[in-house]
Amino acid sequence: MLETSTLFIVPTPIGNLEDITHRALRILSEVDLIAAEDTRHSQKLLQHYNISTRLISLHDHNESQRAVQLISKLKLGENIALISDAGTPLISDPGYGLVSQCREAGVEVIPLPGPCAAITALSAAGLATDKFQFEGFLPVKAVARQNALGKLIKQPNTCVFYESPRRVLDTVKLIAQVLGNDRRIVLAKELTKTFETFYSNTAEACITWLEADINHQRGEFVLMVAGDKSDQTEVSAEALKLLTLLMKVLPLKKAAAITAEQFGLKKNHLYQIGLDL
Ligand code: SAM
Repeated sequence: MLETSTLFIVPTPIGNLEDITHRALRILSEVDLIAAEDTRHSQKLLQHYNISTRLISLHDHNESQRAVQLISKLKLGENIALISDAGTPLISDPGYGLVSQCREAGVEVIPLPGPCAAITALSAAGLATDKFQFEGFLPVKAVARQNALGKLIKQPNTCVFYESPRRVLDTVKLIAQVLGNDRRIVLAKELTKTFETFYSNTAEACITWLEADINHQRGEFVLMVAGDKSDQTEVSAEALKLLTLLMKVLPLKKAAAITAEQFGLKKNHLYQIGLDL
């Protein structure tokens, strides 16, 4: 049985209903109340798992007032779970106000690990993940979008965006304009669903791909942009080793390109090193 007076942060599937942990299902069954972004949407998930816990809405428009109500329930000893429509609450989803107020009020907050579109996409994109920057949704207004991207021109780490099907093409066009046509982008679409797709190419080629078939623009997207490599001149021993090996079996241009891709380096710089070798 649950300890009393805890707010549980419970991630839910981002498409495939099997992506929910045993612990998440147990917590959702045992709590007194589930605060959900859209109660009708979440009811379907609960029905699927025969969970009959009562739902209450908590979304962007009622969060501050709802947080006060939920905290008084928590203080009376109730346990509450917070879920969003999909993925991890608070990650481009409501819940920040509730969690920060719970912390201030001394209410215990326990997070459960689980699905998150950004992490799922990053784990299979083939872009550097040692450090990354999560940007969430770009602003909607043109100037604000351009400014937000402008700040990322020299960002050396992979940047991760959420994007709607309505704006994905415009966003990729803007990335090409601000960060350059040859900046590598990975589009991760419909993750965990039947038509899951990863498309990885330059910004310019991504525009062509999106325009080639209207279906390519449909669905939910995580858009990842490789970091800026213009300042990256340090070549590790591993990179040199790979370059040397590849040079034995491939033309230098190809060997430099593969090594550059693998280690996130500039291919011209590696080509020069290859010539020196
Ligand atoms: N809290 C969620 C999470 O942990 O990923 C994100 C919520 S945010 C409102 C919704 C956005 O997440 C979508 O517009 C899309 O960019 C991304 N997303 C959610 N599910 C996805 C999926 N199955 N495939 C690709 N992107 C997805």
